Amino acid sequence: MMEGEPIVFFNGALLPEKEVGISIRDRGFLYGDAVFDATRTFGGQTFKLKAHIDRLYNSLRYLRIDPGVTKQEMERWSLEVVRHNYPLLPAQQDLWVMQRISRGVESAEPGFTPSPTVLIETHAIPFARRAALYRDGIRLVTPSTPRIPPRFLSPRAKTHNYLNLIMGELEAQAVDPDAWSVLLDENGNLTEGRGSNIFLVKDGQVSTPSGQFVLEGITRGTVLELAAGLGMPASERDLDLYDAYTADEAFLTSTSLCICPVSAVNGAAIGDGSVPGPITQQLMAAFSDLAGSDYVAQYLYHLPQDG
Ligand code: PLP
Repeated sequence: MMEGEPIVFFNGALLPEKEVGISIRDRGFLYGDAVFDATRTFGGQTFKLKAHIDRLYNSLRYLRIDPGVTKQEMERWSLEVVRHNYPLLPAQQDLWVMQRISRGVESAEPGFTPSPTVLIETHAIPFARRAALYRDGIRLVTPSTPRIPPRFLSPRAKTHNYLNLIMGELEAQAVDPDAWSVLLDENGNLTEGRGSNIFLVKDGQVSTPSGQFVLEGITRGTVLELAAGLGMPASERDLDLYDAYTADEAFLTSTSLCICPVSAVNGAAIGDGSVPGPITQQLMAAFSDLAGSDYVAQYLYHLPQDG
């Protein structure tokens, strides 16, 4: 019965995705009181799954949620769900693999302690919707909504509370429906977007905002390692709009994007506006080598034929 349909891991068992319902009193739904992480597959193989699960367990510790599942079990069940779901995809597709844990169901019963809701699910990466970004570059807009500062709620934890980033994204998309957002912090420094980290390149130097103020993306970390391996100077530091407007190159990183070039920030072209710049190109090629998959070709495969 589960043969031809996607499955999920839900509270201890593998089930068909369509049979799983989450309680209306689940605190993840009520308050965003939950954490998640997301890795992707390349040709059906998960990439850096252990690093994602380590980050997931740090997010859980930050929120003081005990998932009741070990890291090893989380990894094993994630691989099991992928093993079942990947073959159901059409050609040239890959999966996002998400682990989501909420604090559990709320109850007014005396003495009730919630037990966490644990879900592992996969879904297809939207290659077609994003393909043109690898040809044209991403247009960025920095909204007026500031990123929540770390002393209020640490951006290093990946929680279900994305409203700050969503408000920024809505504002950016009201300016340019195809734009991606990167929020500034209270001091006017670049932080991150709804699902991505930003890098700038200037005079051969690769820079990204400091880890305290953003989700420390696994891809961001990979890019810093690749840059070191290629002998490129790379650092984490404060970057503001002056740095963005005068950058030679810029790119976003995320699990699904990998590395995707940026063509403009707030309508100002990056470099001569053509993408990718030479350093971005080198890093993109090194990323493909590491992942064992030409991810750019995979995105471009999904360009509309008349596009
Ligand atoms: N910043 C935020 C807020 C994110 O949600 C994500 C996506 O997971 C990233 C950055 C990029 O992180 P990663 O490279 O681990 O996907």
